Amino acid sequence: MEASLKNLLDRGEVIEIRGDGKAGSGLLMVMQTFAKALGRIGGMEIQEWPLFSSSRKGANVRGFLRIANHPIQSAAAVVHPHLAILMDESVASNVDFASGVENGIFVLNTTRSAQEAADKYGLTGTVVAVDGKKISEKFFDHKLANIPVYGALVRMSGCLTDDEGESILLETMKKRRLPEKIQKANSAAYRMSLASMDVALTKSTGVRHLAENFEKYPPLPKGAQSRLRTSLGNKTSQYRPVGLRLKFEDPYNKCNGCSLCVLHCPENIIAWIPDPKGLKVTGANVADFCKLCRECIEVCPVELFSSVKDEAA
Ligand code: SF4
Ligand code: SF4
Repeated sequence: MEASLKNLLDRGEVIEIRGDGKAGSGLLMVMQTFAKALGRIGGMEIQEWPLFSSSRKGANVRGFLRIANHPIQSAAAVVHPHLAILMDESVASNVDFASGVENGIFVLNTTRSAQEAADKYGLTGTVVAVDGKKISEKFFDHKLANIPVYGALVRMSGCLTDDEGESILLETMKKRRLPEKIQKANSAAYRMSLASMDVALTKSTGVRHLAENFEKYPPLPKGAQSRLRTSLGNKTSQYRPVGLRLKFEDPYNKCNGCSLCVLHCPENIIAWIPDPKGLKVTGANVADFCKLCRECIEVCPVELFSSVKDEAA
């Protein structure tokens, strides 16, 4: 790609980003946090939405993001991304995460160097490798690469400075009232990610990543985006699968305070109390807002959340 994403944006183009990962890999949180960060800049239109293959643990998930400085007319899936993310390399065995990318930017969570990753997957453009496992193990009790990949997105987009990216990340955590200890660990992981990113510029590898065939949806009707954004008053528990509900149980005091469930829950309904290790989860407001999206079930490293039969249904 000759121009940076920021330059393309300034020229009035719609920037398209696509990510591939597994359920609970942190991909969707990366996309959401980055979308929020861009939203802070002001004057931008942003579309961000996930696509789940199923709700099974380890199932593939895909995230889409569009950014422009004018109203976005398309509501279709992203098939020619300017930037493609591979959050979990095991996905690459059955999904072409690079499909439709022409001389673009690739952000990979991998233990390989950027050049090794480019050679393995046949990538032409700018390849960025971050070792999310190594960084997360240093600062947290988990191996999710959400912070390292978020850092790479901030840096490679050129739309935000490193400091802006960090302050918005911290703002998200403060909004969820996460303890200072956890905020500091995330901040340190973010800084280390930026410092350890490996970047390679690759010439044509001759490998063709054909775009998926997708017939576009028509443009969005007027006002559709604002209607989506103003739907916060909805009792989202109405959308959960009939006959099921979320259960949280921690009889052996296994919650390690990693805060992943608090950060991932799209409804911000996980309840916790302060604890010497940072926090301790006590439950969730499932009655009104839990749509049983399963994010907390997938991310909890000690499996304290589950989906159970709803006796009241
Ligand atoms: S299943 Fe319910 S509590 Fe868990 S992340 Fe989804 S909305 Fe939040
Ligand atoms: S409930 Fe699970 S995901 Fe949430 S803080 Fe505790 S250990 Fe982490």
